[in-house]
Amino acid sequence: ETLDKGLEKTKESFFSKLNRAIAGKSKVDDDVLDNLEEILVSSDVGVDTTLKIIDRIEERVARDKYVNTNELTHILREEIAGLLTENNSTDIDEFAVPEDKRPYVIMVVGVNGVGKTTTIGKLAYRFKQNGLSVYLGAADTFRAAAVEQLVIWGERVGVPVIKQKMGSDPASVAFDAVSSAKAHNVDVVIIDTAGRLHNKANLMNELTKIKNVMGKIVPGAPHEVLLVLDGSTGQNAFEQAKQFTAATDVTALAITKLDGTAKGGVVIGISDQFKIPVKYIGLGERMEDLQVFNSKEFVDSLFG
Ligand code: GDP
Repeated sequence: ETLDKGLEKTKESFFSKLNRAIAGKSKVDDDVLDNLEEILVSSDVGVDTTLKIIDRIEERVARDKYVNTNELTHILREEIAGLLTENNSTDIDEFAVPEDKRPYVIMVVGVNGVGKTTTIGKLAYRFKQNGLSVYLGAADTFRAAAVEQLVIWGERVGVPVIKQKMGSDPASVAFDAVSSAKAHNVDVVIIDTAGRLHNKANLMNELTKIKNVMGKIVPGAPHEVLLVLDGSTGQNAFEQAKQFTAATDVTALAITKLDGTAKGGVVIGISDQFKIPVKYIGLGERMEDLQVFNSKEFVDSLFG
């Protein structure tokens, strides 16, 4: 029901538009499909994914000759569910860590303001709830506020934050955090990084350097590179995903601030476009407001 509440605005906006588009129409025709296309694009599903969905529905209409507008919601739901499950497996316990991958290292990337620190705090909370020990590494050494925020989350959740003075080398902070975690048999290390996008080569170099340093201490680290995107920014989130996936191997996505936005369609488009699993969604500012993304629950909630 947290998910239902979180997706409320997306749902309301989408279905009110859809209902208007099919009002007084009994048959799915070109007109209805044109409207649907517009609705999906304006719901931030993204143009490419929208066209893919429309194509599939068109095929179906061509095959079945007559499709009732009442069936449209159902068909749409199937198509969206299909797209989402292609890229998201749901049967892993996200807050457990294999014995042979400890410390399990998560490097968190994303631009400032998207909810990176909050997501790190929420993740730390969930791992801790699951009985695992956690260290946080403050490798965004460029903004005093970033370190301060991370320290506040560390205190809130009750996990240590490894930091150095402002302006120090991010890779050195990552080194400290991971080697200290290893020495103390800590289960999970979550590394915050600076999200400055103005220079792609810089970003790439910096992230690569941090990764390499960690991999030398713990082979296979980072085990996860989590890109945090702000769902409420719609197309900006697509753009950021493009830039970060070009700069480093992103292995998972967290999409935040889905509460209070009508742009929840980004989850569908981004998952489809980037073929990277959406692993977490943010549905509020509190520690508890992070959900492991489950495509079935998401679709159920959107169409339920
Ligand atoms: P960072 O600069 O990327 O580290 O962003 P922060 O973690 O500091 O978050 C920026 C703002 O977004 C803060 O006010 C957070 O409380 C808020 N925020 C983060 N995640 C969510 C979310 O899922 N929902 C809502 N409503 N707010 C969020």
